[in-house]
Amino acid sequence: MNSNTPITDIKGIGEKTRALFAKINIASVGDLLAHYPRDYEAYEPAVPIAEAAPGEICAIYASVAGIPNQKKVRNLTIINVNIRDNSGAMQLTFFNMPFLKKTLHPGGYYVFRGLIQTRGVAKIMEQPKIYSLDDYRRQCGQLMPIYGLTKGLTNQTVQKSVRQALSFYTFEKEYYPVSIIQKYGLLSAREALENVHFPANFHDMQDARKRLVFDEFFGFLLMLRKNKELTEDLPNSYPMLETADTIRFLEQLPFPLTKAQRKVWGELREDMAGSGCMNRLIQGDVGSGKTIIALLALLMCAANGYQGALMAPTEVLAVQHYESVQKYTEEYHLAFRPVLLVGSMTAAQKRDAYARIASGEANLIIGTHALIQNKVQYRNLALVVTDEQHRFGVRQRELLASKSEEGVESVTGAHPHVLVMSATPIPRTLAIILYGDLHISVIDELPANRLPIKNCVVNTAYRPKAYEFIAKEVAAGRQAYVICPQVEEGERDDLENVVEYTGKLKAALPSDIQIAYLHGKMHPTDKNRIMEEFANHNIDVLVSTTVIEVGINVPNATVMMVENAERFGLAQLHQLRGRVGRGEYQSYCIFISTNEKKETMERLDILNKSNDGFFIAAQDLKLRGPGELFGVRQSGDLAFQIGDIYTDATILQAASEAVDSLLDVDPALCLPENAFLAEHFSKNANMVDFRSI
Ligand code: ADP
Ligand code: MG
Repeated sequence: MNSNTPITDIKGIGEKTRALFAKINIASVGDLLAHYPRDYEAYEPAVPIAEAAPGEICAIYASVAGIPNQKKVRNLTIINVNIRDNSGAMQLTFFNMPFLKKTLHPGGYYVFRGLIQTRGVAKIMEQPKIYSLDDYRRQCGQLMPIYGLTKGLTNQTVQKSVRQALSFYTFEKEYYPVSIIQKYGLLSAREALENVHFPANFHDMQDARKRLVFDEFFGFLLMLRKNKELTEDLPNSYPMLETADTIRFLEQLPFPLTKAQRKVWGELREDMAGSGCMNRLIQGDVGSGKTIIALLALLMCAANGYQGALMAPTEVLAVQHYESVQKYTEEYHLAFRPVLLVGSMTAAQKRDAYARIASGEANLIIGTHALIQNKVQYRNLALVVTDEQHRFGVRQRELLASKSEEGVESVTGAHPHVLVMSATPIPRTLAIILYGDLHISVIDELPANRLPIKNCVVNTAYRPKAYEFIAKEVAAGRQAYVICPQVEEGERDDLENVVEYTGKLKAALPSDIQIAYLHGKMHPTDKNRIMEEFANHNIDVLVSTTVIEVGINVPNATVMMVENAERFGLAQLHQLRGRVGRGEYQSYCIFISTNEKKETMERLDILNKSNDGFFIAAQDLKLRGPGELFGVRQSGDLAFQIGDIYTDATILQAASEAVDSLLDVDPALCLPENAFLAEHFSKNANMVDFRSI
């Protein structure tokens, strides 16, 4: 078996299972092995009932007290049974498992493992797993992988398939030179893959992960560094002068720029008029007003007779940008002749847009990645702005930057100015590793007219109150978001999922409230339709995964409720919070934590104390030890498959150093000892493509 072998070659994977795997994008053995566990479960020794902490998964060794009680509610069979040990008693509930009535013998001892919940003052478990003491002892101490799943696919099936794939797999030979392996203390690729799936202990798992993260960063940085265009200082091919247009626009705007915005605008003007080609990143917290700065730069570009492009990560955001440009253009008689280019336009609409772009009739092109398709021929493309750029991947940005030279006989070797905007707080040191010589501007101030968002961190008992609150806000004409960590039932049963939650919410809220859901696995057209309907206020409450994190600007939305908030990194929660408080209304964030551990509550409480994205990311890092690497993502935008630029900052640093010293000696990677490395990383270049959730 090698990475291209279809998974149907694995024993036990027939058509039905193949189709299930296909749903989570696993077709080959390579895909399967790269489906790293999303978490691990350690089978801890059993604890007495009295010591089992609510909110945690515990194993309890106890005897069945009395005959299991069975009842039927509609077509659900419910079995309740009491268990007891020396320290106390608790109730277990099982759904649709009628056979338990026969197999759980009164007086018999078993290990029951599950999430400890409370009902009133009593502790309960629902659907715990049942083991004999011997079976449980055998598993104790091992780390069992927990995989991302889809409905119908069990964790056990994935585990078995991975085990088999690993035992028949022909591993590639090592691609790093010995010097790198030694210097950074890396496991071999083989050990890493085996240990990430089935580690003997926590330490082995950490080592395995380190190698895989190193690989991921190494491949990414190699690609970045080889792409000179992004890092080299280039001459200014499109020098621009400031005209009266931008000054007039600023005078007419209904609000003055903040001091931070003015400073950044000054930096852009200097860049575009200066001797070098602009390569700048604007970092500004959500709501800090980056768009207007981009529009000023694009206006300067248009007024100088050039074309500019603005690329957004989602269609909805592109359309929103387009509409606000149209509004500004009409209202203030700006020099823009904008055109929209997004994937869902009809062929005829696209042809029309292409023609207007190629002729130069359009001087501002706004769109999604449709902007970089081959059919688009630009004319004097002098400025490329990408909004929330991390969602794109460097490749796409690079393609767009190279577009300016193609097609129409523009000056050969000309490079457009590049401006990227991001709300992800990346510390400067990381930014330099990631982007080399990119210049960074920071908007570190919010417009003064904002009402600060009111936050609360609460437990699940607060839900009914939260629903009441949402209903009240909707009745007042506002809208709300509810975020759940997973898409559908079956991935993990202890986390809320968008699909089921929507059903629950419909039952809990008044029936005239329009509720819909949104997640990354939906068809793009459906996603766009839902986001558009929410933006147009045809939907009151949107239940979503973090896919909405950057995609949408709805100033009328005033409530952001996040379920299983403990599963998200603080930086990501902060980004989510940025979806509300974008307008004149008082906005609210409700973070629901299922886990009442002191550390979790303290961590989430940081969100209460600060609105500063940088501060929040830094605090989060400080508070969480390296032991909590799984399940919590920091960098919502800059999403690697397994690495995380924040929590794995030291590995990123190491990979950066390794790439630099490698390229110092062998810039084109043509030395024989690096041949295999070059081949491996060019073959696996897709590995570092960015994914959206
Ligand atoms: P982000 O930085 O998150 O992209 P936007 O550019 O979308 O933020 O700005 C958010 C809102 O703030 C917009 O409605 C915008 O018109 C408004 N805005 C921008 N700058 C200012 C300012 N200086 N004063 C008041 N409102 C502003
Ligand atoms: Mg924005």
